[in-house]
Amino acid sequence: MTDGCGLEKSKSQAGARVSCTFGDYMETAEKGLYAIGDIVAGLPQLAHAAMMEGIIAVTHIAGKAAHQIVKTRIPNATYCEPQIGSIGLTEKQARDAGYKVKVGKFPFVGNSKATILGNHGGFVKVVSDEMYGEVLGIHIIGPLATEILAEAAAVLNLEGTIDDMMNMVHAHPTVWEAMGDAFASVRGLQINV
Ligand SMILES: Cc1cc2nc3c(=O)[nH]c(=O)nc-3n(C[C@H](O)[C@H](O)[C@H](O)COP(=O)(O)OP(=O)(O)OC[C@H]3O[C@@H](n4cnc5c(N)ncnc54)[C@H](O)[C@@H]3O)c2cc1C
Repeated sequence: MTDGCGLEKSKSQAGARVSCTFGDYMETAEKGLYAIGDIVAGLPQLAHAAMMEGIIAVTHIAGKAAHQIVKTRIPNATYCEPQIGSIGLTEKQARDAGYKVKVGKFPFVGNSKATILGNHGGFVKVVSDEMYGEVLGIHIIGPLATEILAEAAAVLNLEGTIDDMMNMVHAHPTVWEAMGDAFASVRGLQINV
């Protein structure tokens, strides 16, 4: 079905997936041929990634200003018990990438809403760049992890810092409040433990 449309030029080395310079708005090596979704090599095979890739491709095709997808800013929501919400670099990935890393960790045992929910297991871990305080990754395991991941996605996309986030008022009592403590824990300033 794909014979002759130029797709063969874009086959990735892995074989099954398509190399697509996603820095260039999902366009493949064949000019005018775009790829989105699970077929794209180098991006995670997730529904929300596929949706954004589609928006970027059609925006570019329509000649409007499109943004570029950043692999490290695609969130992961894992529905196990407890839940896992994760975005950005792990501590090891950040070190391997050459960052001088500063890490903070806040356990849900110190979070009031976790007490109310009777669900204290887990923690929020923040990976940051020591020099500028930029948030590089956030990894949450615990109650409502896939929901409070929203703040993590926002701060990574806005290139926010530890100081931006630890000085933001987090409502009490919420599970979300653990995010504020986790950012503050990078500086040893968490207040709820
Ligand atoms: C069991 C399972 C659970 C998942 N859970 C999650 C989750 O919780 N969260 C998440 O983010 N992602 C999840 N995913 C991954 C997610 O479904 C995919 O990343 C996403 O659907 C990829 O979108 P796509 O458009 O590339 O492919 P698809 O959604 O698979 O769409 C491809 C479409 O092309 C059609 N098609 C195939 N061949 C042809 C053909 N020759 N001619 C015409 N049409 C054709 C198919 O019928 C299909 O409709 C899950 C996947 C699976 C299998």
